[in-house]
Amino acid sequence: MNPERPRLTEQTARLFALRTEPWLSCEDCFDRMDTFAEELLTRPGADDLAMRVHVAGCPACAEELESLVELVAQENGLDAAPALRRLHEPVG
Ligand SMILES: [Zn+2]
Repeated sequence: MNPERPRLTEQTARLFALRTEPWLSCEDCFDRMDTFAEELLTRPGADDLAMRVHVAGCPACAEELESLVELVAQENGLDAAPALRRLHEPVG
């Protein structure tokens, strides 16, 4: 232990900065979107952190996913509101 060594190294700082970066590409996001929308609507505990991180930082995918959730909800007579709420919960 060296108390004079700065705790926040450059590498740690970079990791912090990466936390809010999407983990998925938009293509990956689109691939998983159908499944995630259905799960949000039908499985109360459903979560996909990588997807939520991506849509939190990517307005285009967020908009796409929201309309998909609403569409699937409509087709299945489900309520889209709780799923959309869950989607926008802060990413831990
Ligand atoms: Zn995207």
